[in-house]
Amino acid sequence: MPELPEVETVKSEIARFLGNAKILDMKIYNRSLREKISEGVETKIVGNDIVKYERCGKYIVMNLSNNYSIVWHLGMSGRIKLYQDKNFESVKHDHIIMQTDKGVLVYNDPRRFGMFDYVKTDNLNKTKYFQKMGIDPFDKNFDADFLFAHFSKKKVPVKVALLDQSIVNGIGNIYASEILYDAKISPLRSASDIKIGECEKIVVSTRKILNKAIENGGSTLRDYHKTDGSVGHFQNLHCVYNKTGQKCPKCKCDVLNGGGIKKIVQAGRSTFYCETLQK
Ligand SMILES: [Zn+2]
Repeated sequence: MPELPEVETVKSEIARFLGNAKILDMKIYNRSLREKISEGVETKIVGNDIVKYERCGKYIVMNLSNNYSIVWHLGMSGRIKLYQDKNFESVKHDHIIMQTDKGVLVYNDPRRFGMFDYVKTDNLNKTKYFQKMGIDPFDKNFDADFLFAHFSKKKVPVKVALLDQSIVNGIGNIYASEILYDAKISPLRSASDIKIGECEKIVVSTRKILNKAIENGGSTLRDYHKTDGSVGHFQNLHCVYNKTGQKCPKCKCDVLNGGGIKKIVQAGRSTFYCETLQK
């Protein structure tokens, strides 16, 4: 599932490609995504310019000139493809096709867990998507004090707390393991036991790992592709994720003695970490 770096990558690519394009035509071939797309919404969208692109958590928001916004979520397997040529070759699962004066945007989603909605820009924060959304990791208010205040009340492992989208949004399973590895903090510790100085390390590592991932176009493990169909490269820089039994890059742990990087399951999700380095 795309996490913050993948969604940020896709958003930036659309913004670069379409800019302030005018939407000339829109066809919706399948309305049954995670939620049903309302009938006739495309007629309200056509004729507007795109004025701004934002990423809110794992959502892409396109603000239109009529003060309404398009909200996308890529779900599990959703992909946005961009074409210069309006006579591009459409393939199976191309559910939404948006023609603009700068090119074509196509939403393809085999598993249809993605989402598409159209809401008044002023009401975005009141929608169910954003109402309970936690802070963005790049928000200046995301700091050690913020994290400490939230973590001190949580009796769950720190890895599970990092995945709680109502505290910090956009961090998914891959990056939670990578961030705790970078901060040298064991994922097994209770969030309530994390000291303020350690919260500071987590904040620094979060921005560092997410920025590196964005620079590398995100991580492609299964479905995620960039808008030109190419893959991200950050998976090649993962230190612990999916590396069970291997030696971690930062320590001299003896793989034969210690078994290398460990994989455990926390709250139903895999966690990868190094017992020697992460305390
Ligand atoms: Zn190690």
